[in-house]
Amino acid sequence: MSRSDSLFSSAQRHIPGGVNSPVRAFKAVGGTPVFFEKAAGAYAYDADGKRYIDYVQSWGPMVLGHAHPAVISAVIEKAQDGLSFGAPTEIETTLADKVCEIFPGMDMVRMVSSGTEATMSAIRLARGYTGRDKIVKFEGCYHGHSDSLLVKAGSGALTLGVPNSPGVPADLAKYTLTLEYNNIDAVRTLFAEQGNSIAAIIVEPVAGNMNCIPPIPGFLECLREVCDETGAVLIIDEVMTGFRVSLTGAQGHYGVQADLTCLGKVIGGGMPVGAFGGKREIMEHIAPLGPVYQAGTLSGNPVAMAAGLKTLELIAAEGFYDELNRKTQRLVAGVQAAADKHGIPFTTNSAGSMFGFFFNEADKVTNYQQVMSGDNDRFNRFFHAMLEEGVYLAPACFEAGFMSQAHTNEDIDATIAAADRAMERI
Ligand code: PMP
Repeated sequence: MSRSDSLFSSAQRHIPGGVNSPVRAFKAVGGTPVFFEKAAGAYAYDADGKRYIDYVQSWGPMVLGHAHPAVISAVIEKAQDGLSFGAPTEIETTLADKVCEIFPGMDMVRMVSSGTEATMSAIRLARGYTGRDKIVKFEGCYHGHSDSLLVKAGSGALTLGVPNSPGVPADLAKYTLTLEYNNIDAVRTLFAEQGNSIAAIIVEPVAGNMNCIPPIPGFLECLREVCDETGAVLIIDEVMTGFRVSLTGAQGHYGVQADLTCLGKVIGGGMPVGAFGGKREIMEHIAPLGPVYQAGTLSGNPVAMAAGLKTLELIAAEGFYDELNRKTQRLVAGVQAAADKHGIPFTTNSAGSMFGFFFNEADKVTNYQQVMSGDNDRFNRFFHAMLEEGVYLAPACFEAGFMSQAHTNEDIDATIAAADRAMERI
Protein backbone atom coordinates (compact mmCIF):
# COMPACT_ATOMS: atom_id res chain seq x y z
CA MET A 1 0.00 0.00 0.00
CA SER A 2 1.37 3.43 -0.91
CA ARG A 3 1.35 6.27 1.62
CA SER A 4 -1.16 8.07 -0.62
CA ASP A 5 -3.48 5.04 -0.25
CA SER A 6 -3.23 5.03 3.51
CA LEU A 7 -3.49 8.83 3.79
CA PHE A 8 -6.59 8.70 1.59
CA SER A 9 -8.27 6.13 3.80
CA SER A 10 -7.50 8.18 6.93
CA ALA A 11 -8.75 11.32 5.20
CA GLN A 12 -12.12 9.75 4.48
CA ARG A 13 -12.85 9.30 8.18
CA HIS A 14 -13.57 12.97 8.85
CA ILE A 15 -13.40 14.69 5.45
CA PRO A 16 -16.26 14.04 3.00
CA GLY A 17 -14.76 11.92 0.23
CA GLY A 18 -11.33 12.51 1.77
CA VAL A 19 -10.92 15.83 -0.05
CA ASN A 20 -11.69 19.49 0.46
CA SER A 21 -12.61 20.08 -3.19
CA PRO A 22 -14.32 17.33 -5.20
CA VAL A 23 -12.18 17.09 -8.36
CA ARG A 24 -9.16 16.14 -6.22
CA ALA A 25 -10.79 12.79 -5.44
CA PHE A 26 -9.93 11.21 -8.87
CA LYS A 27 -13.60 10.28 -9.32
CA ALA A 28 -13.43 11.06 -13.04
CA VAL A 29 -10.26 9.07 -13.76
CA GLY A 30 -10.61 6.40 -11.08
CA GLY A 31 -7.98 5.26 -8.58
CA THR A 32 -6.55 6.85 -5.45
CA PRO A 33 -5.64 10.53 -5.43
CA VAL A 34 -1.97 11.33 -5.09
CA PHE A 35 -1.21 13.07 -1.80
CA PHE A 36 1.44 15.72 -2.26
CA GLU A 37 3.99 16.57 0.35
CA LYS A 38 5.99 19.37 -1.23
CA ALA A 39 6.70 21.02 -4.53
CA ALA A 40 9.41 23.15 -6.11
CA GLY A 41 9.42 24.73 -9.55
CA ALA A 42 7.93 22.37 -12.15
CA TYR A 43 7.93 19.40 -9.77
CA ALA A 44 5.56 18.10 -7.13
CA TYR A 45 6.56 15.25 -4.80
CA ASP A 46 4.06 12.79 -3.40
CA ALA A 47 3.91 11.33 0.10
CA ASP A 48 6.06 8.39 -1.08
CA GLY A 49 8.73 10.72 -2.42
CA LYS A 50 7.91 10.15 -6.10
CA ARG A 51 8.53 13.19 -8.31
CA TYR A 52 6.04 14.39 -10.93
CA ILE A 53 6.39 17.03 -13.63
CA ASP A 54 3.31 19.01 -12.65
CA TYR A 55 1.01 20.57 -15.26
CA VAL A 56 -1.77 21.32 -12.79
CA GLN A 57 0.23 23.88 -10.83
CA SER A 58 -2.50 24.16 -8.20
CA TRP A 59 -5.07 24.62 -11.02
CA GLY A 60 -3.34 27.66 -12.39
CA PRO A 61 -2.00 29.99 -9.72
CA MET A 62 1.63 28.88 -9.87
CA VAL A 63 2.63 30.60 -13.12
CA LEU A 64 6.14 31.03 -11.69
CA GLY A 65 6.26 27.37 -10.67
CA HIS A 66 5.96 26.08 -7.12
CA ALA A 67 7.65 27.69 -4.13
CA HIS A 68 9.38 30.46 -6.05
CA PRO A 69 12.08 31.67 -3.61
CA ALA A 70 11.19 35.37 -3.95
CA VAL A 71 7.49 34.70 -3.31
CA ILE A 72 8.25 32.48 -0.32
CA SER A 73 10.54 35.17 1.16
CA ALA A 74 7.88 37.85 0.67
CA VAL A 75 5.34 35.67 2.48
CA ILE A 76 7.67 34.84 5.39
CA GLU A 77 8.69 38.46 5.81
CA LYS A 78 5.08 39.68 5.82
CA ALA A 79 3.89 36.93 8.17
CA GLN A 80 6.34 38.11 10.81
CA ASP A 81 4.37 41.36 11.13
CA GLY A 82 1.11 39.57 11.93
CA LEU A 83 -1.25 37.38 9.96
CA SER A 84 -4.43 39.44 9.83
CA PHE A 85 -5.73 42.72 11.23
CA GLY A 86 -9.23 43.22 9.81
CA ALA A 87 -8.16 46.81 9.24
CA PRO A 88 -6.69 48.46 6.14
CA THR A 89 -3.02 47.91 5.32
CA GLU A 90 -0.78 49.67 2.79
CA ILE A 91 -0.03 46.53 0.79
CA GLU A 92 -3.72 46.26 -0.25
CA THR A 93 -3.42 49.64 -1.97
CA THR A 94 -0.12 48.67 -3.57
CA LEU A 95 -1.65 45.50 -5.05
CA ALA A 96 -4.86 47.29 -6.11
CA ASP A 97 -2.81 50.00 -7.85
CA LYS A 98 -0.72 47.38 -9.60
CA VAL A 99 -3.75 45.37 -10.79
CA CYS A 100 -5.45 48.52 -12.10
CA GLU A 101 -2.24 49.59 -13.83
CA ILE A 102 -1.86 46.22 -15.58
CA PHE A 103 -5.48 45.41 -16.42
CA PRO A 104 -7.28 47.18 -19.25
CA GLY A 105 -10.30 49.19 -18.11
CA MET A 106 -9.92 48.46 -14.39
CA ASP A 107 -10.63 51.69 -12.50
CA MET A 108 -11.30 50.13 -9.09
CA VAL A 109 -10.87 46.69 -7.58
CA ARG A 110 -12.09 44.88 -4.45
CA MET A 111 -10.05 41.99 -3.02
CA VAL A 112 -11.76 38.81 -1.82
CA SER A 113 -10.45 35.38 -0.84
CA SER A 114 -11.50 33.10 -3.73
CA GLY A 115 -12.64 33.06 -7.34
CA THR A 116 -16.10 32.00 -6.19
CA GLU A 117 -16.43 35.12 -4.07
CA ALA A 118 -15.22 37.28 -6.96
CA THR A 119 -17.83 36.00 -9.45
CA MET A 120 -20.64 35.84 -6.89
CA SER A 121 -19.97 39.45 -5.86
CA ALA A 122 -19.66 40.65 -9.47
CA ILE A 123 -23.05 39.12 -10.27
CA ARG A 124 -24.66 40.81 -7.25
CA LEU A 125 -23.07 44.11 -8.21
CA ALA A 126 -24.27 43.81 -11.82
CA ARG A 127 -27.80 43.06 -10.60
CA GLY A 128 -27.72 45.91 -8.10
CA TYR A 129 -26.32 48.32 -10.69
CA THR A 130 -28.81 47.47 -13.46
CA GLY A 131 -31.84 46.69 -11.29
CA ARG A 132 -32.32 43.50 -13.36
CA ASP A 133 -32.24 39.86 -12.20
CA LYS A 134 -31.46 37.67 -15.21
CA ILE A 135 -27.92 36.64 -16.05
CA VAL A 136 -26.48 34.74 -18.99
CA LYS A 137 -23.77 32.10 -18.74
CA PHE A 138 -22.41 29.47 -21.13
CA GLU A 139 -22.60 25.70 -21.08
CA GLY A 140 -19.39 24.13 -19.81
CA CYS A 141 -18.14 27.32 -18.15
CA TYR A 142 -17.52 27.20 -14.41
CA HIS A 143 -17.55 30.33 -12.31
CA GLY A 144 -17.31 28.92 -8.80
CA HIS A 145 -20.09 27.38 -6.76
CA SER A 146 -22.41 30.24 -5.78
CA ASP A 147 -26.13 29.52 -6.25
CA SER A 148 -26.75 31.67 -9.33
CA LEU A 149 -23.78 30.15 -11.13
CA LEU A 150 -24.37 26.49 -10.32
CA VAL A 151 -26.97 26.25 -13.03
CA LYS A 152 -27.11 24.28 -16.26
CA ALA A 153 -29.13 24.70 -19.41
CA GLY A 154 -32.70 23.51 -19.50
CA SER A 155 -33.76 21.56 -22.58
CA GLY A 156 -33.92 23.77 -25.67
CA ALA A 157 -31.87 26.83 -26.46
CA LEU A 158 -33.75 29.57 -24.66
CA THR A 159 -35.22 27.78 -21.67
CA LEU A 160 -34.76 28.80 -18.07
CA GLY A 161 -31.81 27.41 -16.18
CA VAL A 162 -32.16 24.41 -13.91
CA PRO A 163 -30.11 23.85 -10.74
CA ASN A 164 -26.90 21.89 -11.19
CA SER A 165 -27.00 20.79 -7.58
CA PRO A 166 -29.57 20.03 -4.90
CA GLY A 167 -29.70 23.04 -2.60
CA VAL A 168 -29.90 25.62 -5.38
CA PRO A 169 -33.49 26.92 -5.38
CA ALA A 170 -35.22 26.49 -8.76
CA ASP A 171 -36.71 29.94 -8.16
CA LEU A 172 -33.21 31.40 -8.29
CA ALA A 173 -31.84 29.17 -11.05
CA LYS A 174 -34.57 30.35 -13.38
CA TYR A 175 -32.82 33.72 -13.58
CA THR A 176 -29.71 32.10 -15.05
CA LEU A 177 -30.00 31.59 -18.81
CA THR A 178 -27.47 29.18 -20.29
CA LEU A 179 -26.30 29.29 -23.90
CA GLU A 180 -23.86 27.20 -25.93
CA TYR A 181 -20.28 28.51 -25.76
CA ASN A 182 -19.04 30.10 -29.00
CA ASN A 183 -22.57 30.25 -30.42
CA ILE A 184 -22.87 33.83 -31.65
CA ASP A 185 -26.34 33.33 -33.17
CA ALA A 186 -27.74 32.06 -29.86
CA VAL A 187 -26.45 35.18 -28.08
CA ARG A 188 -27.94 37.51 -30.67
CA THR A 189 -31.31 35.72 -30.63
CA LEU A 190 -31.55 35.81 -26.84
CA PHE A 191 -30.59 39.48 -26.64
CA ALA A 192 -33.00 40.44 -29.40
CA GLU A 193 -35.81 38.92 -27.33
CA GLN A 194 -34.81 39.63 -23.72
CA GLY A 195 -31.73 41.88 -23.76
CA ASN A 196 -33.38 44.72 -21.86
CA SER A 197 -34.11 42.51 -18.86
CA ILE A 198 -30.64 40.96 -18.60
CA ALA A 199 -28.33 42.22 -15.86
CA ALA A 200 -25.12 40.59 -17.03
CA ILE A 201 -23.30 38.12 -19.20
CA ILE A 202 -20.60 36.16 -17.39
CA VAL A 203 -18.09 34.33 -19.54
CA GLU A 204 -14.78 32.51 -19.34
CA PRO A 205 -12.90 34.28 -22.16
CA VAL A 206 -11.00 31.03 -22.72
CA ALA A 207 -13.05 28.21 -21.25
CA GLY A 208 -10.78 26.26 -18.91
CA ASN A 209 -13.31 24.14 -17.07
CA MET A 210 -14.34 21.97 -20.02
CA ASN A 211 -10.74 21.26 -20.98
CA CYS A 212 -9.36 24.27 -22.93
CA ILE A 213 -11.65 26.00 -25.42
CA PRO A 214 -10.58 29.36 -26.83
CA PRO A 215 -13.24 31.77 -28.11
CA ILE A 216 -13.91 31.63 -31.85
CA PRO A 217 -13.23 34.93 -33.67
CA GLY A 218 -16.14 37.30 -33.07
CA PHE A 219 -17.58 35.56 -29.99
CA LEU A 220 -16.22 37.88 -27.30
CA GLU A 221 -16.78 40.88 -29.61
CA CYS A 222 -20.44 39.87 -29.96
CA LEU A 223 -20.84 39.75 -26.17
CA ARG A 224 -19.38 43.25 -25.92
CA GLU A 225 -21.78 44.49 -28.61
CA VAL A 226 -24.99 43.07 -27.14
CA CYS A 227 -24.08 44.43 -23.71
CA ASP A 228 -23.43 47.89 -25.21
CA GLU A 229 -26.78 47.73 -27.01
CA THR A 230 -28.85 46.69 -23.99
CA GLY A 231 -27.04 48.05 -20.93
CA ALA A 232 -26.21 44.57 -19.61
CA VAL A 233 -22.91 44.33 -17.74
CA LEU A 234 -20.19 42.25 -19.41
CA ILE A 235 -18.43 40.25 -16.70
CA ILE A 236 -15.30 38.57 -18.00
CA ASP A 237 -14.27 35.86 -15.56
CA GLU A 238 -10.49 35.91 -15.75
CA VAL A 239 -10.00 33.87 -12.57
CA MET A 240 -8.08 31.36 -14.68
CA THR A 241 -6.96 33.45 -17.66
CA GLY A 242 -5.89 36.62 -15.83
CA PHE A 243 -2.08 37.05 -15.84
CA ARG A 244 -2.05 33.65 -17.57
CA VAL A 245 -3.13 33.95 -21.21
CA SER A 246 -1.09 37.15 -21.25
CA LEU A 247 -0.03 39.69 -18.62
CA THR A 248 -3.26 41.58 -19.36
CA GLY A 249 -5.28 38.38 -19.42
CA ALA A 250 -7.57 37.26 -22.20
CA GLN A 251 -8.90 40.80 -22.55
CA GLY A 252 -5.48 42.09 -23.54
CA HIS A 253 -4.90 39.05 -25.75
CA TYR A 254 -8.21 39.22 -27.64
CA GLY A 255 -8.75 42.98 -27.46
CA VAL A 256 -12.18 42.91 -25.83
CA GLN A 257 -12.79 44.84 -22.62
CA ALA A 258 -15.13 43.90 -19.78
CA ASP A 259 -17.27 46.15 -17.64
CA LEU A 260 -16.34 43.98 -14.66
CA THR A 261 -13.44 41.55 -14.46
CA CYS A 262 -13.08 38.68 -11.99
CA LEU A 263 -9.61 37.57 -10.94
CA GLY A 264 -8.23 34.76 -8.81
CA LYS A 265 -5.48 32.14 -8.92
CA VAL A 266 -2.32 34.00 -10.17
CA ILE A 267 -3.29 37.21 -8.34
CA GLY A 268 -2.65 35.38 -5.06
CA GLY A 269 0.48 33.53 -6.20
CA GLY A 270 -0.84 30.39 -4.45
CA MET A 271 -2.45 32.13 -1.47
CA PRO A 272 -6.26 32.50 -1.20
CA VAL A 273 -6.98 35.69 -3.16
CA GLY A 274 -9.66 36.68 -5.63
CA ALA A 275 -10.71 40.10 -6.87
CA PHE A 276 -13.39 41.81 -8.89
CA GLY A 277 -13.09 45.21 -10.45
CA GLY A 278 -13.83 47.36 -13.43
CA LYS A 279 -15.54 50.58 -14.38
CA ARG A 280 -15.66 53.21 -11.64
CA GLU A 281 -19.30 53.99 -12.41
CA ILE A 282 -20.25 50.38 -11.56
CA MET A 283 -17.76 49.77 -8.74
CA GLU A 284 -19.04 52.86 -6.90
CA HIS A 285 -22.23 50.90 -6.22
CA ILE A 286 -20.40 48.53 -3.87
CA ALA A 287 -20.44 49.12 -0.07
CA PRO A 288 -19.35 51.35 1.61
CA LEU A 289 -19.58 53.74 -1.38
CA GLY A 290 -22.89 52.34 -2.54
CA PRO A 291 -25.76 50.09 -1.45
CA VAL A 292 -24.64 46.69 -2.87
CA TYR A 293 -23.29 44.72 0.08
CA GLN A 294 -20.11 42.66 0.01
CA ALA A 295 -17.52 42.05 2.75
CA GLY A 296 -14.84 39.67 4.09
CA THR A 297 -13.00 39.21 7.41
CA LEU A 298 -9.86 38.00 5.64
CA SER A 299 -10.25 40.05 2.41
CA GLY A 300 -7.01 41.78 1.46
CA ASN A 301 -5.11 39.59 3.92
CA PRO A 302 -1.60 41.06 4.09
CA VAL A 303 0.29 37.77 3.75
CA ALA A 304 -1.81 36.79 0.73
CA MET A 305 -1.32 40.28 -0.75
CA ALA A 306 2.46 39.89 -0.35
CA ALA A 307 2.43 36.62 -2.35
CA GLY A 308 0.28 38.20 -5.06
CA LEU A 309 2.30 41.39 -5.29
CA LYS A 310 5.62 39.58 -5.61
CA THR A 311 4.14 37.29 -8.26
CA LEU A 312 2.83 40.23 -10.29
CA GLU A 313 6.21 41.95 -10.07
CA LEU A 314 7.99 38.89 -11.42
CA ILE A 315 5.60 38.12 -14.29
CA ALA A 316 5.85 41.67 -15.62
CA ALA A 317 9.45 40.94 -16.71
CA GLU A 318 10.21 41.50 -20.39
CA GLY A 319 9.65 38.37 -22.47
CA PHE A 320 8.04 36.38 -19.63
CA TYR A 321 4.95 35.43 -21.62
CA ASP A 322 6.78 34.84 -24.93
CA GLU A 323 8.86 32.19 -23.22
CA LEU A 324 5.86 30.63 -21.48
CA ASN A 325 3.87 30.47 -24.73
CA ARG A 326 6.80 29.05 -26.68
CA LYS A 327 7.12 26.22 -24.14
CA THR A 328 3.39 25.54 -24.30
CA GLN A 329 3.60 25.22 -28.09
CA ARG A 330 6.57 22.87 -27.77
CA LEU A 331 4.55 20.64 -25.43
CA VAL A 332 1.31 20.50 -27.44
CA ALA A 333 3.15 19.94 -30.74
CA GLY A 334 5.21 17.13 -29.20
CA VAL A 335 2.26 15.34 -27.63
CA GLN A 336 0.27 15.71 -30.88
CA ALA A 337 3.17 14.13 -32.79
CA ALA A 338 3.26 11.23 -30.28
CA ALA A 339 -0.48 10.61 -30.79
CA ASP A 340 -0.15 10.84 -34.58
CA LYS A 341 2.72 8.35 -34.51
CA HIS A 342 0.49 5.80 -32.79
CA GLY A 343 -2.53 6.58 -34.99
CA ILE A 344 -4.62 7.80 -32.07
CA PRO A 345 -7.34 10.38 -32.85
CA PHE A 346 -6.18 13.38 -30.88
CA THR A 347 -6.23 17.16 -31.02
CA THR A 348 -5.05 20.01 -28.83
CA ASN A 349 -6.08 23.56 -28.01
CA SER A 350 -4.04 26.25 -26.35
CA ALA A 351 -4.23 29.90 -25.39
CA GLY A 352 -1.06 31.43 -23.98
CA SER A 353 0.14 29.00 -21.32
CA MET A 354 -3.20 27.16 -20.97
CA PHE A 355 -3.60 24.00 -23.01
CA GLY A 356 -5.92 21.05 -23.52
CA PHE A 357 -5.53 17.50 -24.83
CA PHE A 358 -8.56 15.89 -26.53
CA PHE A 359 -9.00 12.33 -27.69
CA ASN A 360 -11.27 13.64 -30.44
CA GLU A 361 -11.31 13.34 -34.23
CA ALA A 362 -12.29 16.94 -34.73
CA ASP A 363 -9.52 19.26 -35.71
CA LYS A 364 -10.66 21.91 -33.28
CA VAL A 365 -12.94 21.48 -30.32
CA THR A 366 -15.05 24.60 -29.75
CA ASN A 367 -17.89 23.69 -27.38
CA TYR A 368 -19.05 21.41 -24.59
CA GLN A 369 -20.86 18.92 -26.84
CA GLN A 370 -17.64 18.29 -28.75
CA VAL A 371 -15.68 17.79 -25.53
CA MET A 372 -18.31 15.29 -24.40
CA SER A 373 -18.03 13.40 -27.69
CA GLY A 374 -14.32 12.64 -27.16
CA ASP A 375 -12.97 9.25 -26.10
CA ASN A 376 -12.89 10.16 -22.44
CA ASP A 377 -12.14 6.58 -21.31
CA ARG A 378 -8.96 6.79 -23.34
CA PHE A 379 -8.15 10.10 -21.65
CA ASN A 380 -8.47 8.33 -18.31
CA ARG A 381 -6.05 5.59 -19.43
CA PHE A 382 -3.68 8.28 -20.71
CA PHE A 383 -3.89 10.11 -17.38
CA HIS A 384 -2.91 6.97 -15.43
CA ALA A 385 -0.16 6.02 -17.86
CA MET A 386 1.31 9.53 -17.53
CA LEU A 387 0.98 9.42 -13.75
CA GLU A 388 3.02 6.22 -13.73
CA GLU A 389 5.56 7.97 -15.94
CA GLY A 390 5.86 10.77 -13.37
CA VAL A 391 3.77 13.38 -15.17
CA TYR A 392 0.88 14.92 -13.25
CA LEU A 393 -1.99 16.06 -15.48
CA ALA A 394 -5.37 17.29 -14.24
CA PRO A 395 -7.34 14.25 -13.04
CA ALA A 396 -10.29 14.84 -15.42
CA CYS A 397 -10.65 15.41 -19.16
CA PHE A 398 -12.61 18.61 -18.49
CA GLU A 399 -9.70 20.61 -17.13
CA ALA A 400 -7.08 22.80 -18.76
CA GLY A 401 -3.36 22.22 -18.23
CA PHE A 402 -0.89 24.91 -17.22
CA MET A 403 2.72 25.66 -18.12
CA SER A 404 4.93 27.49 -15.65
CA GLN A 405 8.09 29.53 -15.91
CA ALA A 406 9.90 26.74 -14.08
CA HIS A 407 9.29 24.05 -16.72
CA THR A 408 12.45 23.60 -18.79
CA ASN A 409 12.75 22.33 -22.34
CA GLU A 410 14.15 19.13 -20.81
CA ASP A 411 11.03 18.74 -18.65
CA ILE A 412 8.86 19.24 -21.72
CA ASP A 413 10.84 16.80 -23.83
CA ALA A 414 10.68 14.24 -21.01
CA THR A 415 6.91 14.76 -20.94
CA ILE A 416 6.67 14.20 -24.70
CA ALA A 417 8.76 11.03 -24.43
CA ALA A 418 6.46 9.84 -21.62
CA ALA A 419 3.42 10.64 -23.79
CA ASP A 420 4.92 8.60 -26.63
CA ARG A 421 5.25 5.56 -24.34
CA ALA A 422 1.81 6.19 -22.84
CA MET A 423 0.12 6.46 -26.25
CA GLU A 424 1.53 3.07 -27.15
CA ARG A 425 -0.19 1.51 -24.14
CA ILE A 426 -3.61 3.13 -24.37
N1 PMP B 1 -13.97 31.09 -12.24
C1 PMP B 1 -13.18 30.32 -12.99
C2 PMP B 1 -13.01 30.63 -14.45
C3 PMP B 1 -12.48 29.26 -12.41
O1 PMP B 1 -11.69 28.50 -13.17
C4 PMP B 1 -12.66 29.00 -11.03
C5 PMP B 1 -11.95 27.85 -10.33
N2 PMP B 1 -11.39 26.89 -11.10
C6 PMP B 1 -13.50 29.84 -10.30
C7 PMP B 1 -14.14 30.87 -10.93
C8 PMP B 1 -13.72 29.61 -8.83
O2 PMP B 1 -12.56 29.94 -8.13
P1 PMP B 1 -12.29 29.32 -6.67
O3 PMP B 1 -12.09 27.86 -6.85
O4 PMP B 1 -11.06 30.04 -6.20
O5 PMP B 1 -13.47 29.65 -5.84
